[in-house]
Amino acid sequence: MFDVEKVRADFPILGEKVYGKRLVYLDNGATAQRPRRVVEKMVEYYYRYNSNVHRGVHFLSNRCTDANEEARELVRGFIHAASDKEIIFTRGTTESINLVAYSFGEAFIQPGDEILVTEMEHHANIVPWQMLCERKGAVLKVVPFLDNGELDWEAFGHLLTEKVKLVGVAYVSNVLGTVNPVGKIIERAHAVGAKVLVDAAQAIQHIPIDVQALDCDFLVFSGHKIYGPTGVGVLYGKECLLEQMPPWQGGGEMIKEVRFEKTTYNELPFKFEAGTPDFIGVIGLGEALKYVTDLGLREIAAYEHELFVYATERVKEIPGMRIFGEAASKSSVISFALGDIHHSDTGILLDKQGIAVRTGQLCAEPTMQHYGVTGMVRASLAMYNTREEIDILCEGLKKVANMFGMK
Ligand code: PMP
Repeated sequence: MFDVEKVRADFPILGEKVYGKRLVYLDNGATAQRPRRVVEKMVEYYYRYNSNVHRGVHFLSNRCTDANEEARELVRGFIHAASDKEIIFTRGTTESINLVAYSFGEAFIQPGDEILVTEMEHHANIVPWQMLCERKGAVLKVVPFLDNGELDWEAFGHLLTEKVKLVGVAYVSNVLGTVNPVGKIIERAHAVGAKVLVDAAQAIQHIPIDVQALDCDFLVFSGHKIYGPTGVGVLYGKECLLEQMPPWQGGGEMIKEVRFEKTTYNELPFKFEAGTPDFIGVIGLGEALKYVTDLGLREIAAYEHELFVYATERVKEIPGMRIFGEAASKSSVISFALGDIHHSDTGILLDKQGIAVRTGQLCAEPTMQHYGVTGMVRASLAMYNTREEIDILCEGLKKVANMFGMK
């Protein structure tokens, strides 16, 4: 059984007060909180073992190198990749996508080729592809979504031609909460010879992922959304593709031999890890994955689903509430507008009650444009949120509505 109170006790920040009020943290889509043991692990490494990885012959360096590689193995196991060589550490989802856009682009994209993304993508899964298209004379195509937040499957069918070389899609939309049918998308894309990058930034913490079962070509996520540190993320790529892709950045561990005439590159995964990596961050991420694994991702998912259903029902009851995105398959994110109150006003007035939500464009301007709004309010849930907190959110929203004279 998932014991939420026990989990909450692992996160010191959840006991904090803001403006003398109990903190209700509902901005987990932007970044989650870290449990004590992740922070303690990193502190332990800073205090006792800190030394650069891969380069030393001495005890401390070897200790950090081993811990860094253990974390790689933990990530591999967590997403069920076939090999450690397929796990590349980056600064986060954004950097992982940029790496693929550059390196896959160099290896495989020709003028006139198409990259297909969806209308509901985060900017991080739009802009690197636009930059690639500009560089290579390729064309960015966009699969629209329906007003209920589900992908327009028919349009996807029309747009997915043999010109498409790569499909970039969010597993879970950070605005609409839509859980996209990535398995089906991958199957269809592969049928026309396109590769697929899955942006799992909002999925990794909620949905058990098996990259081999999915058969995705790339999958990316950030440490800080799964209770790990900021500044570290993951790029999973199929070994056969990564082997064919050139390095992105030069220097450090990515080299094999440097000659002024010609430099040769290291093997995977190091070929893509130039410079001193954030190895303490990597070690912290490994600890976060252990923590989540100890709790059980399936147990977490079941608890979160039940909480999400409750939250959706409660929020919907509030008069004047408009929820954006009501896909049949949805996870952890509720974006809304309260009457015609400006999203910033709603956010600020909730904040004064100790409730942290996100407001604005949510790094997804095309999604805002779809609905003709300048911004939204977003409550995003994590495994440590409770029904009581949802009740506090709803009471808070009712107070905001009252202040604006809404009935
Ligand atoms: N994609 C999605 C779906 C996201 O939610 C986010 C973070 N909001 C990102 C990409 C970017 O992640 P990061 O800022 O950690 O690189």
